[in-house]
Amino acid sequence: MSNTEKETYINEAENAILHTYNRFQVVFDHGKGMYLYDTDGKEYLDFASGIGVQALGYGDEAYNTALKNQIDKLMHTSNLYYNVPIIRAAEKALKASGMHRIFFTNSGAEAIEGAIKAAKKYAYTRDGHNGHEIIAMKHSFHGRTLGSLSVTGNPHYQEPFGPLIPGISFADFNDFASVESLVTDKTCAIILETVQGEGGIYPADPEFLRRVRSLCDQKDILFIMDEIQCGMGRTGEMYAWQNYGVCPDIMCTAKAFGCGVPVGAFLMNEKVAKRTLQPGDHGTTYGGNPFVGVAVSAVFDRFEELQLIEHVKEVAPYLIEKLDELVAKYPMLTARRGMGLMQGLVCEVPVGQVAAKALEQGLIIITAGSDVLRFLPPLIMEKAHVDEMIEKLSKVLDENFM
Ligand SMILES: *Cc1c(COP(=O)(O)O)cnc(C)c1O
Repeated sequence: MSNTEKETYINEAENAILHTYNRFQVVFDHGKGMYLYDTDGKEYLDFASGIGVQALGYGDEAYNTALKNQIDKLMHTSNLYYNVPIIRAAEKALKASGMHRIFFTNSGAEAIEGAIKAAKKYAYTRDGHNGHEIIAMKHSFHGRTLGSLSVTGNPHYQEPFGPLIPGISFADFNDFASVESLVTDKTCAIILETVQGEGGIYPADPEFLRRVRSLCDQKDILFIMDEIQCGMGRTGEMYAWQNYGVCPDIMCTAKAFGCGVPVGAFLMNEKVAKRTLQPGDHGTTYGGNPFVGVAVSAVFDRFEELQLIEHVKEVAPYLIEKLDELVAKYPMLTARRGMGLMQGLVCEVPVGQVAAKALEQGLIIITAGSDVLRFLPPLIMEKAHVDEMIEKLSKVLDENFM
């Protein structure tokens, strides 16, 4: 019996690409708006956005045109020189965040690496010596490089790679006393996701954030917020911390920052910028090249033209209402958590199986933690897409899990 085209592709992939992901058995070919299409032409409604990246959905014309024009003009020159697209991108990111300085990276993990180095250098400049410590959160996720893995509160991810960078301790998220008890006179930073993503969609408690902020102010500890997944409009503000009125000293962004072009950044306030990384302390060959500059600028422009933040505020309550109805209706769904278009349903049947069955049904959802169905639709989502998603997911649950 001959293999289907799809099976052939999957075999080729598994024979060439290191097996670090147990992938869903689908080969995507193209996308349009809220939908992806596989190599057989089957249509899928996307409620995952390539893990929170495709905020504009697929095939946004203005964004695509901006990229195409830049490809013909200039892709890369290195950071030994200036270029105009990245200056414009920097201005837009600083304006949106109220931060004062930005460093462009090529991924989220690299933004975390940079934030850690910036915090260590700040404390080094202040104290005249190294050896500083960082407090991170249990069940956090900050990336897979050795530095970002060191602050990722998941022993399973860390175990094979120790020893990691020293001086990291882990507090319970949303438990201020547990953070406070870990502070020493060597603590230089506290790092957390404003809304924990991979760990299971846990928004920070407003009171918790406020108390961590004032602890940091008292002790000159830098507050690093990881906005890589929850930032860029997903929670109904450009950055999730803007819902709380609690500012970070250093903020990390990536994922939807480039809407498909690999780019991230760490941003900081003036206080940090004055006493941190200097020439020779940090660098990257690609970081902030003209091509990604145009992508980031186009993303901010499209957010404004489409009034995406207002749009999220308008459609998110509908998604929340419909997910709450599912929780009321299905016994295996026990809770909903989240903010805006970053939502999770706690599920008592194996979530990986639910996501796989949903895919067969033409619906893309992903999982978080061990028992959470995660919803990260493109921000262009309309209420009708929620109805379509609920219909498909209900069918999956009715036919396979009741
Ligand atoms: C995805 C993610 C990262 C890592 O980003 P990469 O681009 O995969 O390196 C870090 N922090 C959070 C909260 C994320 O969701």
